Amino acid sequence: MRHYTQYSLKSLNTFGFECIAKDFIEIDNIDNISENFNYIDKNFDVIKLLENRKFLVIGKGSNLILANKFFDGLVIYISDKNLDIINENILAVSAGYVWHDLVEFCLNNKYYGLENLALIPGTVGASPIQNIGAYGVEVQQFIDKIQVYNLQTKAIEFLSNVQCKFSYRDSIFKHTNQYIVLKVFFKFTDYTANISYKELSNYLNLYELEVLPQNIFKAVVYIRNQKLPKPEILGNAGSFFKNPIIETQKLQNLLNLYPKLINYPIDNNYTKLAAGWLIDNCNFKGYKYKQVGVYEKQALVLVNYTAVYANEILELASLIQQTVLEKFDIQLEIEPIIIN
Ligand SMILES: Cc1cc2nc3c(=O)[nH]c(=O)nc-3n(C[C@H](O)[C@H](O)[C@H](O)COP(=O)(O)OP(=O)(O)OC[C@H]3O[C@@H](n4cnc5c(N)ncnc54)[C@H](O)[C@@H]3O)c2cc1C
Repeated sequence: MRHYTQYSLKSLNTFGFECIAKDFIEIDNIDNISENFNYIDKNFDVIKLLENRKFLVIGKGSNLILANKFFDGLVIYISDKNLDIINENILAVSAGYVWHDLVEFCLNNKYYGLENLALIPGTVGASPIQNIGAYGVEVQQFIDKIQVYNLQTKAIEFLSNVQCKFSYRDSIFKHTNQYIVLKVFFKFTDYTANISYKELSNYLNLYELEVLPQNIFKAVVYIRNQKLPKPEILGNAGSFFKNPIIETQKLQNLLNLYPKLINYPIDNNYTKLAAGWLIDNCNFKGYKYKQVGVYEKQALVLVNYTAVYANEILELASLIQQTVLEKFDIQLEIEPIIIN
């Protein structure tokens, strides 16, 4: 474990915003978590920090907006990258393991199913937080249980898949900050390829590729590289807004006005809309605002050209929300977590 003060988080968020953390602790071996917390509890009032939202666990910062120049609190960073093969169906993976490296490991070792989630930036520890998803697959489908450190009880505990309360871009971890994810136990049973997204099946058809995990991986990597900016080159946090879910009744009214509105029915009562389509249809694609903007190939992605701090991204986000609300009567919700 290492403890730093006045630590820059610039390289730990994919927008590349500057933010200085008052205290920063790196935990490199989660097996020592209880001893590490003996030290932390001696030096910090963790419960008070939690109450004041001054306690932050950070992964790669690919789903965060560091809104201020300073974070007047404690940041915990887990760099433990252990992976244990429990049996032919179960892997136990430490929070600091890089997500895409896990996808590649699984593919090479016949643990199939995660290939649809290739190239999602970030860590294994963050993957359950918003239940990462892409191309018809969500990580919750592969989670058996999660080992956590409970900051309230100061105990190491396990949460079952059901206890995690997963749903679209959501889980229990978004509603309480009492847990640090230490290890995720992934289960792989009954593999079925998922090529429900047209882009995937089109790619496989075009190149006459069989429906195999290796080819799905190839397709996902190709498609993502085409339409998403690499954060190392152009700062961003992936999709900036969630796809809004609306009642089917409202959808009908909108379809009368906008017949081309992209929508994905969820059930008889609810439908998911493509937030990118709504933003694009307010003419924001490629729009530049001060030192930030909307990515030219994908209206759902906001990018940082040269801004040092987050304020301009947040101003642009408000402008987009207001415009979409006025035109479509839909309130867009910001996907990344705003850290004040
Ligand atoms: C180019 C790009 C594309 C993306 N594409 C997708 C996509 O297709 N699908 C998708 O779902 N997401 C996508 N994202 C979002 C992001 O990659 C994921 O949300 C990812 O899981 C975040 O991982 P991270 O390690 O960077 O977490 P961070 O951004 O560091 O943290 C995110 C949240 O998780 C919490 N957290 C992190 N680690 C832990 C831990 N060990 N214990 C408890 N809490 C923790 C943080 O406190 C924070 O609340 C994309 C982002 C980018 C930049």
